Formats: sequence, C-alpha cells, structure tokens
Amino acid sequence: MFRALVIDKDSEGRITQAVREMDDASLAAEGDVTVRVDYSSLNYKDGLCINGLGGLVRTFPHVPGIDFAGVVEESADDRFEPGRPVVLTGWRVGEVWWGGHAQKARVKGDWLVALPDGLATRQAMAIGTAGFTAMLAVMALEEHGCRPDGGEVLVTGAAGGVGSVATAILARLGYQVAAITGRSELRGYLEDLGATSVLPRDDFSAPAAKPLEKERWAGVVDAVGGSMLAHVLPQMKYAGSVAAVGLAGGAKLETTVIPFLLRGVNLLGIDSVMQPAERRVATWRRLARDLDIAKLETMIVPATLGDLPDLANAILAGEVRGRVVVDPNA
Ligand code: NDP
Repeated sequence: MFRALVIDKDSEGRITQAVREMDDASLAAEGDVTVRVDYSSLNYKDGLCINGLGGLVRTFPHVPGIDFAGVVEESADDRFEPGRPVVLTGWRVGEVWWGGHAQKARVKGDWLVALPDGLATRQAMAIGTAGFTAMLAVMALEEHGCRPDGGEVLVTGAAGGVGSVATAILARLGYQVAAITGRSELRGYLEDLGATSVLPRDDFSAPAAKPLEKERWAGVVDAVGGSMLAHVLPQMKYAGSVAAVGLAGGAKLETTVIPFLLRGVNLLGIDSVMQPAERRVATWRRLARDLDIAKLETMIVPATLGDLPDLANAILAGEVRGRVVVDPNA
C-alpha cells in the first residue's frame, strides 16, 4: 500500500481531492520501473490538474504530480537498477499517467533520468519541472547568441517557480538580470537570488503602444505571456531572443511582426514535456553545474500531500513564492 493525493469526479461532476491509501496493484501495469518517491513538487500545471482545469486530466480517479525524484524500487529496465536515484519531469505524467503526488509511481524507464552527481532528490524537486524549463530557456537563449556581455536580460513572473530559477541561473552565469514581479514585497528575495534590478509588473502589463521602442533587453525568459510578452517584444535589442515559457498572465498574444523583421528578434518556444532523453541529461547536468544550491534553498516552500489542494489554488492565483517541494512521506 502507499499514500497518494487522489483527485476524483463526484456524481455531480465536481472535482474532489483527498489523500488516500492505494494498493500497489492500482499502479499502471504498462510501466516498467517502480520508484519510491522521495519528493515531488507543485508547478502551475499541477494547480490546473488538482482542480480538474484545462482539460488536462481526462480519467478519474487520478494521481497528479508532473514531476518527482526518488529511488528505483523495482525495475524491468536494466538502465535503472533498484537503489538508483532518478528524476522525472514531463511526458504527461501527472496528466494522463499517474504522477508524483504519491509515495510510489510506476513509469516507463524511457522517461527517467539518472540523477546527476551533486544533486540530492530534494534539490532535484526544488528545481522540478519549473527549474528544468528555466534551464532549457537559458540554453535556448545561449544557442541564439545571448552572452553576459550582450546587455541586460529580463525575467518575467520572477518570483514564481520558473522565474526564480531563471533569475538564479542567469545571475550565476554573470548576466545583469532585471526581474519583473507583481509583488513588491519580494524585492529582497529576488535581489538575494541575484536580480540586479526589480521592476513592477504594472509597468509591463499593457501591450506596447508602438511596434518598436528603445532597445532594452538582450534576452528574456518569459513565464507570463499575454500582454506582458506583447509589451516586451518591441523593447528587444537587435538580434535579441525571447524564450516563451509560460502563460501565467494569458495565452493570447497581440503584437506586430515588426521586431522580427526590423530587429531580427527571435521568439523561441520552450517545451519541457517532450524533450528528448539526451537533451534532458544535458539540461540536468547544466543545472547541477550552474545553479547555486544555497540560492535554491531560499526558494523552497516545504509541503505535504495534504497541503496540496490549498497550494494548488494559491499557485493559480500567482501567490506561491519560489518552489513548493512536496514530501509524500511526511
Ligand atoms: P508560478 O505560479 O510559480 O509562477 C508564475 C508567476 O507569474 C507568478 O509567481 C507571478 O510572478 C506571475 N504572474 C502570475 N499571474 C500573473 C498575471 N496575471 N500577470 C502577470 N504575471 C503573473 O508558475 P510556474 O513558474 O510553475 O510556471 C510559470 C508558467 O510557465 C506557467 O504558465 C506554466 O504553465 C508555464 N510552464 C511551462 C512549461 C513549458 O514546458 N513550456 C514548463 C513549466 C511551466 P510575480 O508575483 O513575481 O509577478
């Protein structure tokens, strides 16, 4: 038996959440590796899944949790022998497949990454999907010519999960990092992560008035989308790049093509869910190297399975600071 957060749909179609004892036999038979989950986390998408929103979860009962880190308990995949620490993000685990908000998960070996040296399972989940995606975004900016001496970079939704990790990585790599937040009380937190300036969300909430404005940003990690992304595109430096990660502020983008045509601006789509295995391994290695573990500690909000329904509402409301690390064994 193992404990899990189970979401279900009642006879009137309402979504319910409860921590329940589950039988090992309820784990997916198609999985070939069983993992004892040490830690999971809470991402924006978990907020949606736990509340049955966004059409992400179609089959009930369901165990959410789009990421986890733990130790292999049983395996039919000879790459992952029992006792090996592993991490999983993406592959629609926690959406269409039972996820990490549980003491156990059974998944496909193809989806697992062996934890790199230097990262413990708790640190891997302090990073989680949000941090993994922040690293993918930074790597995409680098691959498009972004360098610390090229000018200031911008992080939107900076006090959230993606934003916090992106800020810390970019600062560690030597960038001047401007961090946009709607929570002015978190200025000190963002400066401690390495932000060189902290800017109010309100100054960036409306779409830009002109197709081109003064050149300001060499690169952007954007967790917000919507009108904030539309505001920032005309402010890009020549050949600058925006890594479009999220939609915390909206999915609709109303802009012009002028920054692309006249400034050679790159809009880079970032998807963490279907990344190929080699890219995942490289990304976790970069995280182990380029993220200051002391700074990662300052992002952690510890939680238990029972805390998740409330925290799921909080993350959708943009009220979570940094990264919620879930201990399913607490
Ligand atoms: P968080 O809730 O932790 O962070 C989002 C942040 O955005 C908030 O903390 C807040 O930051 C800001 N924000 C929230 N609402 C608004 C709003 N209405 N207008 C402007 N800013 C707002 O979520 P995550 O960091 O986990 O995820 C961020 C986004 O990235 C989500 O949309 C998520 O779906 C997406 N994502 C995409 C992935 C991919 O593979 N492409 C993977 C992981 C996440 P502040 O208070 O500092 O302003």
